[in-house]
Amino acid sequence: MKLPGQVAIVTGGNKGIGRAISLSLADEGADVVIAARDMPAADQVADQIKQKGRRSLSIRTDVTQNEQVEKMIEEVLDEFGHIDVLVNNAGIFSMFPVREITEEEWDRMMMVNVKGVFLCCRAVIKPMVKQNQGKIINISSVAGKIGVPLTAHYCASKFAVLGLTMSLALELAPHNIRVNAVCPGDINTQMLEKEWQRFGKIKGMTPEEVRRTKLAGIPLRRVGQPEEIAKAVTFFASLDSSYITGQTINVDGGMESH
Ligand code: NDP
Repeated sequence: MKLPGQVAIVTGGNKGIGRAISLSLADEGADVVIAARDMPAADQVADQIKQKGRRSLSIRTDVTQNEQVEKMIEEVLDEFGHIDVLVNNAGIFSMFPVREITEEEWDRMMMVNVKGVFLCCRAVIKPMVKQNQGKIINISSVAGKIGVPLTAHYCASKFAVLGLTMSLALELAPHNIRVNAVCPGDINTQMLEKEWQRFGKIKGMTPEEVRRTKLAGIPLRRVGQPEEIAKAVTFFASLDSSYITGQTINVDGGMESH
């Protein structure tokens, strides 16, 4: 096992990619805290983790609310005494032509995808500095590296996550805190399902036409599975990446290079 005795927090760890990350970290020996809003889903993942013989806690947390974030970190410290890994996975997506992106939608996207990551990083830094060690892994996107039509606000938010990652990596390196990012491509979750439906609606395409168009843009010609993102996250959380900080791994079937 690569993470025995480690304590990890996964934001949005109750569904999709976050769920796979939570289970993968637990498989490697970590105790895992699920910080999300949908508590029945969070409790289910926590139960699965406990069945693996690890400790797990689900804490209701809206990552856009600083008070809730600070309280969640306090609760984790009270329960476990230390925090070794923070995975900033919680995120939202929507698709609009740029002229139809309202100020409210822009703000909502930035609140969750950027401010949420910032607040969670800021709150965990204090205990990690005290411990003189920690790993922060941010989930950006292939849309954090290349422009994608119809998602200017999402792209901007995911580019911001990479800027935050690189800056924090430099600032926190003297405290032995490593900060890295994973950029998923199209991954089989509810988010992707909704994205493809919306794309079909805007473009007037059938689901089959959308599928063919999307797969044509992925060199490996398939969507990824959440577990394939979890493997990259587990690498950054473990000593296998002990000399790596400020870096990004694309897990995208070759999409960015296409
Ligand atoms: P899902 O829509 O399946 O899950 C989103 C997760 O984010 C849920 O667990 C949700 O928890 C959580 N979340 C959303 N808003 C908040 C909030 N305000 N506070 C706390 N938690 C919140 O998405 P995916 O699993 O597909 O995506 C996970 C991450 O991966 C996101 O950052 C996404 O941008 C990124 N990504 C996904 C890709 C894909 O193809 N699927 C591609 C590239 C990047 P709850 O329901 O409890 O609110």
